[in-house]
Amino acid sequence: MGKEKEYLKELLNKINEVSHNFLGYPVSKDFDYSELSEFLKYPINNIGDPFEDSTYKVQTHNLEREVVDFFAQLFNADPKDYWGYVTNGGSESNLYGLYLARETFPKAMVYYSESTHYSVKKNIHLLNIPSIIIRSQENGEIDYDDLESTLKFNRHKPAIVLTTFGTTMKEAKDDVSKVKNILKKLAIHDSYIHCDAALSGTYGAFMEPRIPFDFSDGADSISISGHKFIGSPIPCGVVITRRTLKDRISKGISYIGSSDTTITGSRNGHSPLFMWYAIKKMGLKGLKERYNHSSETAIYCKDELIKIGVKAWMNPGSITVVMPKTSEEIKEKWQLATQDDITHVICMPNVTKQQIDEFVNDMAKQ
Ligand SMILES: *Cc1c(COP(=O)(O)O)cnc(C)c1O
Repeated sequence: MGKEKEYLKELLNKINEVSHNFLGYPVSKDFDYSELSEFLKYPINNIGDPFEDSTYKVQTHNLEREVVDFFAQLFNADPKDYWGYVTNGGSESNLYGLYLARETFPKAMVYYSESTHYSVKKNIHLLNIPSIIIRSQENGEIDYDDLESTLKFNRHKPAIVLTTFGTTMKEAKDDVSKVKNILKKLAIHDSYIHCDAALSGTYGAFMEPRIPFDFSDGADSISISGHKFIGSPIPCGVVITRRTLKDRISKGISYIGSSDTTITGSRNGHSPLFMWYAIKKMGLKGLKERYNHSSETAIYCKDELIKIGVKAWMNPGSITVVMPKTSEEIKEKWQLATQDDITHVICMPNVTKQQIDEFVNDMAKQ
């Protein structure tokens, strides 16, 4: 094992090194879960429904329920009618939302904007639901006029609208209450709204002014990624929906002594542990401070870029700074995501003003 040990050491050094200059992807790295390391010794498996007891006891269902409770409350879910679970990431959370939507309205059409995350397109393909792409506005938000005229044309069909709260490149947010009003205006009663809030859902409740996206605004299910704003060593996500919707797809499985209500069978039991630990440690107050820090850093970054003549801009309440495509050199050094003619910097909670200064310095030199 001499050679392999050497390789592991090198790999660890390399990962440590590249995680410093990291401004382009929505991943927090400022967590410390070392207190939980003993749990890695156990085959923790959250198989089955987190709200039911199962025969398999090496699990963290209690903590998973607390994580679901926390986000259900944050998203203004009906205290008597919510359900959810910890997934393998935002993509699985989106798949779940769309699955529930299709089971509720099997003859529906899905509407989503051209700025929607690629996981949604893949999920729609997997579920084989007919779909229509709606135009995006220049800022990345869905074009409500195009949505209305397209819905009008298909008003005889049930409608599933997939809204995004924080698009991948511009962190644009579709307004769920506007979508709900369009559906009402057109008298489309058989409708379902799934909100993909992978990045921004975690701090949406703290934005001022508020941008409608949650259950009180008309969403039927909401998905987030756990490893993005909160941060986790293992990718994970959360999906929250109404319990009554979930009950439609629930099937009892005697082998596990629980209901099969989730996408995968065996489920990672460590992720709920990380999420729970982070939520308990931060509390609502800490989470809000985390957002305020990111928001301030982003505004600082945008202002500093404008000072050196870069046409940087941000969507309201966002932590993402959008700018014209940067040089290859800067893109490589800072690991910046670039699409078409734009590049973005995402000011995750671990990003500091010093890092922004260093980055802006590099930008000034090019
Ligand atoms: C990251 C992201 C996803 C996918 O989440 P994963 O956790 O990577 O599966 C979906 N939608 C949006 C808008 C995202 O930013």
